[in-house]
Amino acid sequence: MGTSQDPHKPPNSPRIIPRPEHTLSRGCVSQNALKVLYRLKDCGYQSYLVGGCVRDVLLGHEPKDFDVATDATPEQIRKAFRNCRLIGRRFRLAHIHFGRDYIEVATFRGRGDDDGDDGGDREVRDGRLISDNVYGSIEEDAERRDFTINALYYNIEDFSVRDYVGGFEDLKARRLRLIGDPEQRYREDPVRLLRAVRFAAKLQLDIDPATEKPLTELGASLDQVPPARLFDEVLKLFLTGHAQRTTRLLQHYGLFEALFPDSARCAREQPGYARMLQRAMENTDERVAQNKPVTPAFLFAVLLWAPLQTRVEPAVADGMPLHDAIHSAAEEVISRQVEQIAVPRRFSVPMRDIWHLQPRFKHKVGKKARKLLEHPRFRAGYDFLLLRAEQDESLAELGQYWTELQELSGKALKDALAPQSGKGGRPRRRGKQKSGETGQ
Ligand code: ATP
Ligand code: MG
Repeated sequence: MGTSQDPHKPPNSPRIIPRPEHTLSRGCVSQNALKVLYRLKDCGYQSYLVGGCVRDVLLGHEPKDFDVATDATPEQIRKAFRNCRLIGRRFRLAHIHFGRDYIEVATFRGRGDDDGDDGGDREVRDGRLISDNVYGSIEEDAERRDFTINALYYNIEDFSVRDYVGGFEDLKARRLRLIGDPEQRYREDPVRLLRAVRFAAKLQLDIDPATEKPLTELGASLDQVPPARLFDEVLKLFLTGHAQRTTRLLQHYGLFEALFPDSARCAREQPGYARMLQRAMENTDERVAQNKPVTPAFLFAVLLWAPLQTRVEPAVADGMPLHDAIHSAAEEVISRQVEQIAVPRRFSVPMRDIWHLQPRFKHKVGKKARKLLEHPRFRAGYDFLLLRAEQDESLAELGQYWTELQELSGKALKDALAPQSGKGGRPRRRGKQKSGETGQ
């Protein structure tokens, strides 16, 4: 396949950074990725590591996963591996499986294939799965990637890094730069707006001025992104350990507003909600750093909380029971949201639970309190209560009560939950409550 001698290919020959001049050693690469690279090479194909893994290692970060690019076609890849599955339709990718792990192998992509990343199934118009120019040369493959630092190729042949777009210099300068004309590249695939912010925040890079300028101008084009793809992207923005910096940057460029217009408006009007958002992002980052689980349900419960409240409050003032008001407000908020960012039901259902649990925390003793403690979503609801309590002093005592209650077990818990144990009081750790004590 393509070499730089081909007259139809661009004349740009790569800058080759030899092994002694970069920091990517085979020791940084997973055994499975190495097996794939060597197997392709031994079959006579070009094989490179490319994308996030090369970028992350060169920046001194641990890569999340390893992606391989090759000139072998999907069929050729399949023949080279026993443990291979082909996925995708028009642009087919190979997954080489090793138990639970797999390595993704992509054939170099050509110019014609410029409709962004594989965001779900594509229409196959005339039944032809592969158009003539889907696959291409390594130069073309480099050009259709998004940022220069994402287009570096580690060559298993001689351990050098190949750079067609100036990514190596950009990495050294810690600069994030789109390949090609920024506005055009963002319009082709508006998800790149969010990727720019995500990489800038995660890797603490400076965004090159030409790449930065459209960020404030093209937010509205996110409307054209399929909602399911935006959901995936939103999770990467907020649940991968850099939510605080990412949120600040999104707000700075008006992209937070483009993603969550109602939440952004509430945050502008209510400083308490703005702080709640910020604290939620802080907590999420801490949890990720400690390898604790984080869930999209909790994230969206926070992101949509103020929009929910702005509907609940007038409904309750009109005499609607609180539970019903939350229910119908949730319907409305969620249906507005999913038009733009598709939150799957497996997350929207627990998100509603978190909301519905909030008024139930006021039942501090008796059967209702015990049932609440046993609720499968109690912990998430309680964490949410604490987050609210940080901004709302009138909830501080309630938060404290439930914190202490959870430390109790056995008889102490039973006593604390006993209806006569003094509504509104602190759970007693030992001894009997004095008669008449209100517990305040
Ligand atoms: P990370 O996995 O850490 O989020 P990554 O750079 O590996 O970062 P992926 O989404 O895994 O991101 O994509 C792998 C590579 O595919 C990228 O490095 C880039 O070269 C290319 N790529 C991904 N999405 C796009 C896109 N929307 N437009 C152009 N190229 C893309
Ligand atoms: Mg990746």
